[in-house]
Amino acid sequence: MITTDQVRKMLIYVSENIVESEPMLTEIDSKIGDGDHGTGMRKGFSKVKEVLEANRYQTMNTLFKEVGLTLLKTMGGASGVLFGTLFIGGIKCVDDTDTLETGYLADFMKGSLASIQHRGKANVGDKTMVDALTPAVESLMDSKKANESLKTAMEKAADSAREGVEATKNMHARFGRSRKFGDLVIGLQDAGATSVYIIFDSMYKWLTQSTGERV
Ligand code: ADP
Ligand code: MG
Repeated sequence: MITTDQVRKMLIYVSENIVESEPMLTEIDSKIGDGDHGTGMRKGFSKVKEVLEANRYQTMNTLFKEVGLTLLKTMGGASGVLFGTLFIGGIKCVDDTDTLETGYLADFMKGSLASIQHRGKANVGDKTMVDALTPAVESLMDSKKANESLKTAMEKAADSAREGVEATKNMHARFGRSRKFGDLVIGLQDAGATSVYIIFDSMYKWLTQSTGERV
């Protein structure tokens, strides 16, 4: 369990990692898309970093809402709405709280995944961010049931997201610009799924660098 202010710091760290990943995300989206995913994510998350550094939040829902709205306003494009929804879609599925626990995160991300699928219509196997987020959410739900610590839950969720990214290499794209690339996408991972993995992996890395206590 960590406080809302620790989550604010964790999300600043996530933002820095996304910004640093811009060249890699651009490279992936250039091969099998229109090359704008890295730029969009960099724009969105640089603004998130700026906003989170300048403000303080009382509760988790106000913090996540701020992140989501900032992404919606600054990223643009198909994935701007979808990554904004990642931080907003779950709000209606949780009771607001001033700490982040495994159960809250699991319920939140499950709601966000449902909203993303409601908006984007993609399912597992369509070579999108849904292919990384679905296994991450399933893992979080398992961790919630097993009453695992946030750090353990995040480690498993990041691993599951990474496996999801790997799986996208063998898929054809049915959504986004990549769908025009036909068989050329085989062997290459999806950009949005990669971003989802970076988000979860950065949260896990931040947790390992924070105090040694059971978080
Ligand atoms: P665009 O395809 O409009 O150029 P971006 O390049 O910003 O958007 O983002 C591409 C990523 O967005 C893809 O790699 C994919 O993961 C995700 N994506 C695109 N369309 C959808 C959708 N309908 N549902 C879920 N994810 C999607
Ligand atoms: Mg693109």
